[in-house]
Amino acid sequence: MLADSYGRVATDLRVSLTDRCNLRCAYCMPPEGLDWLPRPELLTDEEVVRLVRIGVTLLGIREVRFTGGEPLLRRGLPGIVAATAALHPRPRTALTTNGIGLARLAPALAEAGLDRVNVSLDTLDPDVFEKLARRRRLDDVLAGLEAAARAGLAPVKVNAVLMRGVNDHEAPDLLDYCLERGYRLRFIEQMPLDAQHGWQRATMVTAEEILDRLGAAHTLTPVGAAGRGSAPAEEFLVDGGPATVGVIASVTRPFCGACDRVRLTADGQVRNCLFAREESDLRGPLRAGADDAEIAERWRAAVAAKLPGHGIDDPGFLQPARPMSAIGG
Ligand code: SAM
Ligand code: SF4
Repeated sequence: MLADSYGRVATDLRVSLTDRCNLRCAYCMPPEGLDWLPRPELLTDEEVVRLVRIGVTLLGIREVRFTGGEPLLRRGLPGIVAATAALHPRPRTALTTNGIGLARLAPALAEAGLDRVNVSLDTLDPDVFEKLARRRRLDDVLAGLEAAARAGLAPVKVNAVLMRGVNDHEAPDLLDYCLERGYRLRFIEQMPLDAQHGWQRATMVTAEEILDRLGAAHTLTPVGAAGRGSAPAEEFLVDGGPATVGVIASVTRPFCGACDRVRLTADGQVRNCLFAREESDLRGPLRAGADDAEIAERWRAAVAAKLPGHGIDDPGFLQPARPMSAIGG
């Protein structure tokens, strides 16, 4: 088991497959992109699969989510998914993607054993998309969503981040779009994880504001904390249900006490929290010939050291050195 000293057990592994991306979302990256990790530092497909296998067979991981950066840029993705889905016990498999390329890849990924997909969609306006993501690719994302649903990667979830003065007026439109197509929408509060350190508590769009905006167009009824478990989203029935909308209030209503996640970066570092300031290297021992038991032991120690919370509200809070795209969101 991957237990920490506060009684939490990590069973949900987020694997970043690359820090590169074909978008430049303003809450994530600067327009010019970042200094990408040098290729030799990235785990190979075989190394990723070995670490996932150790996590699943020796450490109690039950769900594996591939992310990045943009995971669809990783050519070996279908093979990595297939190897993951072939493990015993079989973990649930999921992907978080910006949707570009999904129109083409969704059938192959479903075939490989991918169970679910989360697609990021912050706006339905091509001009706002271009302003926010600095690329004119809205149509590709919408086509990706459709293809995911057709391929049976259900329920298709949509992640949206609202930025004040950019797309915060679109919350009800995004909800209607998703309701009409059976996608499950979740709004994520913007977190201080952008590479350019532009996040400001005073200007971020809070969960409360999002709910107010949605509430003006629909009746929202809380599904209730009992059903939430370790899921970060607070769920609300829309107009009596059965459709729901979620709000992930990582900043204003943190859920660290119920966290069951652990992260592996594309260069083989375990992070026990998005906001961790320290990482534990698994790539070095892996390449030096460590056996599975030794790697598992290092991984256990990394999770055991997890802090109780992210501390965004602490006066001494320091943003982690790596941005979201390099950690794996
Ligand atoms: N490129 C893929 C995508 O956009 O879905 C996967 C990686 S991205 C880092 C994962 C998720 O993190 C996306 O839903 C994105 O909107 C979200 N995200 C990125 N930066 C964020 C921030 N500063 N605050 C909150 N969510 C953020
Ligand atoms: Fe790329 Fe995802 Fe970051 Fe947007 S949020 S820049 S799509 S990694």
